[in-house]
Amino acid sequence: MGDRSVNDTYWHPEVETASRADLQRLQQERLRATVIQAAKSPFYRERFRRLGIAAEQVRTLDDLRKFGFTVKQDLRETYPYGMLAVSRDEVVRVHVSSGTTGTPTAVFHTQRDIDRWTDIMARCMYMVGMRKHDVMQNMMTYGMFTGGLGVHYGAERLGMMVLPTSAGNTERQIRLMRDFGTTALHITPTYALHLIGVLAGMGIDPKSLGIKYAIIGGEPCSPTARKKLEQAFGFRTVNCFGLSEMNGPGVGFECPTDGALHLWEDHFIVEIIDPETGEVLPDGREGELVMTTLCREAMPLLRYRTRDLTRIIPEKCRCGRTHVRIEPIKARSDDMLILGGVNVYPSQVEQVLMAFPEVGNNWVMVLTRKESLDRMTIRVEIKPEAFTGDLKQLQALRDRIAHAVKGEILINPQVELLEPGSLPEMVGKAKRVMDQREKE
Ligand code: ADP
Ligand code: ZN
Repeated sequence: MGDRSVNDTYWHPEVETASRADLQRLQQERLRATVIQAAKSPFYRERFRRLGIAAEQVRTLDDLRKFGFTVKQDLRETYPYGMLAVSRDEVVRVHVSSGTTGTPTAVFHTQRDIDRWTDIMARCMYMVGMRKHDVMQNMMTYGMFTGGLGVHYGAERLGMMVLPTSAGNTERQIRLMRDFGTTALHITPTYALHLIGVLAGMGIDPKSLGIKYAIIGGEPCSPTARKKLEQAFGFRTVNCFGLSEMNGPGVGFECPTDGALHLWEDHFIVEIIDPETGEVLPDGREGELVMTTLCREAMPLLRYRTRDLTRIIPEKCRCGRTHVRIEPIKARSDDMLILGGVNVYPSQVEQVLMAFPEVGNNWVMVLTRKESLDRMTIRVEIKPEAFTGDLKQLQALRDRIAHAVKGEILINPQVELLEPGSLPEMVGKAKRVMDQREKE
């Protein structure tokens, strides 16, 4: 399967268009091998022992379902080596995420793991039309974060010329785009929006750069923000979903036909569960994405709870690929804020703000609590042309924004309008929420 036989449409034609029956057979085979491999790690060995199951007895997904889930906390508790299923000599790479709580998690790869990840990454980019003549500027952070290296290797395998620029140093990035005729970017949506502002400051029309594709990932992006990017640059945005535990970028990649993301079932088993009860939901219902790796040697993960919310799209895809599709991830179950008893996702606020033509590209939301009432302040940058000096007009804009946000999330925010560049620059994943409620 590592061999590729390219045709015009598919990178791995036999795999991408395999019949469902063939795919399921392949999954079954690989699942058995994966469970046996997983049982070599201290963590899973202990779990199998506790449950009194031999790894060889797990033959189907139904068998595996009796076994429960793997969660992020398991990775934290077993840090650094508790999930490792091969000898340390076999490991060629480790990615460590510090996470927001500060407790690290580690994900290990053998050379074969890296090769397979690289291969599916190339498959993803080939799917959307990228070819070896393309020039990829990889503006995603390199290093412990998987976004940089994951796409880098995949783009090289596809044969593109790669500029490993990482994030930041934006004016230099723009210079390189022009010097080398960059046709594809890999970038967080937050950084892409920031780029528009920097280009405007330099007096450069983003369209003049001639970029054809932007792979945007690492965080959710609202449809309005995407439209804004596409209109400014004239490129096509491609949604790339991933998480370090399942390698990194390229776990889910947007199909050019209709905005849904394909997940590669020769590499992963995909389930959707009710995040409250853990019950497996039928296709089409929204819930938490749960994934099992099928090809990983160094660190197989069985039924890993991603905390990302989505649903499986049951209908077949028009592109001819038979692999499962999910809707774009709008939120993580642990992103949810509870404000005055109301459930709010920051992405809902983003969606509302981005629909205002006056609104610029950066915003944050500050949460405070006074007399046991939750309050939300939205601090949002406004485009220079919206600062007319007319106070009444600004006041009216503030009211319209507050009203629109209230319409979406039922909470009446304070809105502060800021000049462009007032908020800290964000070049990686955005940090939009400042929750100061505990401190009071
Ligand atoms: P961390 O967990 O420290 O943020 P990761 O790189 O593993 O580091 O982050 C993975 C998470 O980022 C995913 O679980 C998901 O919540 C979010 N994410 C990544 N890509 C996308 C995307 N295209 N759309 C929405 N969310 C995304
Ligand atoms: Zn498709």
